[in-house]
Amino acid sequence: MKSICIFIVEDEPSIAQTVQFALDDEGFATEHFTTGTDCLKALENSAPSLVLLDVGLVDGSGFEFFRRIRRLTEAPVIFLTARDAEIDRVAGLEMGADDYIVKPFSLRELVARVRAVLRRVESPPAPVAGGSDIFRIDSERRQIHYHAQPLALTLHEYRLLQTLLNHPERVFTRAQLLEHGWDNPDHRLERTIDSHIKSLRGKLHKIKPDADPICTHRGVGYSLIPGA
Ligand code: CA
Repeated sequence: MKSICIFIVEDEPSIAQTVQFALDDEGFATEHFTTGTDCLKALENSAPSLVLLDVGLVDGSGFEFFRRIRRLTEAPVIFLTARDAEIDRVAGLEMGADDYIVKPFSLRELVARVRAVLRRVESPPAPVAGGSDIFRIDSERRQIHYHAQPLALTLHEYRLLQTLLNHPERVFTRAQLLEHGWDNPDHRLERTIDSHIKSLRGKLHKIKPDADPICTHRGVGYSLIPGA
């Protein structure tokens, strides 16, 4: 069986070491690089399945390295970001990163996020139409059913929910949701996403009060877990 190789780009030895131990323990092959430059060099000859990329590296910004990594591989990238830097999380996702993990993180969380991203990449979610018992999209009628009940959605609510459903577990920033949901997105209106999500939640809640499939990522945006 081909082992899954994960590149860890992290200049903090203690973090790198614990991450490496944890992933090795889960049966992943890992390679650690202290600098972005070393990682780029390695990418010329090898193709990892996933890259964990620290935002603050000694030889440059993780964002800059992300751009250069993207020229060499399509492998998913998860940013490791500092606790107080929400702006970094937003920037990373908007550049096209697959996820972000906030330091300090638990190893259990890290492994779960790595597995979730790998799963997403290996088997892109089937269009939800007919595929889920919980949500069903009928795009011809512009209708979404939740637990077999039709939701009465505005156009923007429909588009928001459709976007989230088509990429379960993926975190979308407000700007990304605006791009998907509005024909002429005006980024001064990013906060209106919040009110649409709020009303969407209300409609879902009416059908199933004990479930909350839409997750809020504070200061970042939203994701959806159908079964949550
Ligand atoms: Ca660092």
